[in-house]
Amino acid sequence: DLVVRQVTKTFETPAGGLAVLSGSALEMSRGEAVAITGPSGSGKSTLLYIIGTLDHATSGNVSILGTDPAPMTPAALAKFRNDEIGFIFQDHHLLPQCSVLENVLLPTLAGAGTGTEEEQRATQLLERVGLGERLTHRPAQLSGGERQRVAVCRALINQPSLLLADEPTGNLDRQTATAVGSLLLELREEQNTMLITVTHSTELAERFPRWCELVDGKLVERKTTAPAS
Ligand code: ATP
Ligand code: MG
Repeated sequence: DLVVRQVTKTFETPAGGLAVLSGSALEMSRGEAVAITGPSGSGKSTLLYIIGTLDHATSGNVSILGTDPAPMTPAALAKFRNDEIGFIFQDHHLLPQCSVLENVLLPTLAGAGTGTEEEQRATQLLERVGLGERLTHRPAQLSGGERQRVAVCRALINQPSLLLADEPTGNLDRQTATAVGSLLLELREEQNTMLITVTHSTELAERFPRWCELVDGKLVERKTTAPAS
């Protein structure tokens, strides 16, 4: 389960402290999916980075599967993040010199290593998103939607407990955006993963069982139950 308790974040800037989050809280269980919307600059990415252990809260804390990552050593934190958290970045962050298949396999390198089982899983995921014929392409040889789907596969390869997606459909046409949204929701259900998606698309947010809005540094629940997706 995930518990976010009264998280605040103040960035130190030359002009003084910039308070972005002012007590954001969220609780979710395995298999749940939450969409977070809010105006540009409201702190959505900041909150997602803190939940994903990529940034520190100024105060408050996050508990992932009963573990508080804050006091971990950098090595322990890297392992925890690699095993339990999948992160889909706003600009996907694929390695340009690696092939599609190699990009998806990156998170497996830190663990026991990449074997045939991992390769099979990566290939299956890529086939699932329609990229079975693109395994040896480099990111530069893909369309924007294809790159985003590779990033989704990479975030899922280690079967994370927590899947975080920052604007996963931002640069996609409507049809591809719908497909990527469906993929995230389906895989979350299959793998019993907790999914948090930050988005500007109300169309995408409406498909989520839960929808929170970031207002004045706090999460406000807009919808808690859902029509079937
Ligand atoms: P968008 O929808 O445009 O992606 P967002 O809600 O994700 O916006 P954040 O990226 O979380 O917004 O940024 C929230 C605020 O914090 C912004 O005003 C931004 O300028 C500020 N900010 C973010 N990172 C830093 C930083 N490292 N140092 C100082 N200010 C920052
Ligand atoms: Mg953002």
